[in-house]
Amino acid sequence: MFELQKLLRPHIAAIKPYSSARDEYSGSDGVFLDANENPFGSITQEAFNRYPDPYQSALKVEIAKIKNVSPQQIFLGNGSDEAIDLLFRAFCRPSIDEVIILPPTYGMYEVSANINDVKLKKVNLTADFQIDLNGILEAISANTKIIFFCSPNNPSGNKLKRQDMLSILAQFEGLVVVDEAYIDFSDEPSFTTELAKYPNLLVMQTFSKAWGLASLRLGMAFASVEIIKILNLIKPPYNISGLTQETVLAAIGNVSAKDQMVKSLLVERANLQESLAAISYVQKIYPSDANFLLVKMKDARKVYEYLIDHLIIVRDRSKVVLCDDCLRISVGTPAENQHLIQIMKKFQA
Ligand SMILES: *Cc1c(COP(=O)(O)O)cnc(C)c1O
Repeated sequence: MFELQKLLRPHIAAIKPYSSARDEYSGSDGVFLDANENPFGSITQEAFNRYPDPYQSALKVEIAKIKNVSPQQIFLGNGSDEAIDLLFRAFCRPSIDEVIILPPTYGMYEVSANINDVKLKKVNLTADFQIDLNGILEAISANTKIIFFCSPNNPSGNKLKRQDMLSILAQFEGLVVVDEAYIDFSDEPSFTTELAKYPNLLVMQTFSKAWGLASLRLGMAFASVEIIKILNLIKPPYNISGLTQETVLAAIGNVSAKDQMVKSLLVERANLQESLAAISYVQKIYPSDANFLLVKMKDARKVYEYLIDHLIIVRDRSKVVLCDDCLRISVGTPAENQHLIQIMKKFQA
């Protein structure tokens, strides 16, 4: 059985919330002399002199509507990376606890584990980038706190089998993270639909990919109200800038513009796939549910360097497990993709 209080690091379970100035009075009218702000305003056109809402309430109301969860089930972080780090800090005792990741996968889980001195167990995906269920079950120990699934997976691009993730969710007593950074590009329903059933589930999404807002740094985590309370308890008080909150609040009203970009990217992904397949030294293009393609080719490293020489930057994944001779290529605009293909066609080993 999943028991949040037992899973938490003991000192975290005992922390009393820090009360920021904006916590103690949350109204917007009044003479604010409580936070040592500059009352004259800012030296910029827009006024940035007041601290932002520490809980991003207005934004969460709107996100809750489009994600079909309650605002209390949402944590917002300075990118998904902040949520990942906070999970380590909340649940994993340094040099005692463990997490499980499934390489090849997103690099930040390992970076955060290393920073927090948490042991990492790696259970590689299978050759077709699916979950090794038995491998995971064997790797789980009494000190395993978190299992990270990334679906659609970075860098392979495919979605993981839902049934396998549900099976782990049902059996594992620790926290299961499903990182859905690329969910908008997939026809798979989000795991947020499973939150009511699994108290040990945390789903991560981001404004960095489909929404085109990577620079604003806004990541979302969806989980039970109890888990979200813990993340709010240990986050830096003003972790999301006012500029980010306002800008995303304005953008989120325009879901259809996001959907239109996703649609274009999917068309372009298919075009890019077709053009890449016609290149003589390309050996395999892996199926993608994301906005990038993992492409296996002869002499990948040389192609990577050749592309750099032509000012085209892709991601070299050729030294990553199960990705021998693979480059990860983001889907660009039609012109960018055509340019890439044109240059790639001229490559000679
Ligand atoms: C890009 C990406 C993210 C997004 O991270 P942010 O910090 O929100 O920009 C998260 N997870 C995966 C797997 C990604 O590829």
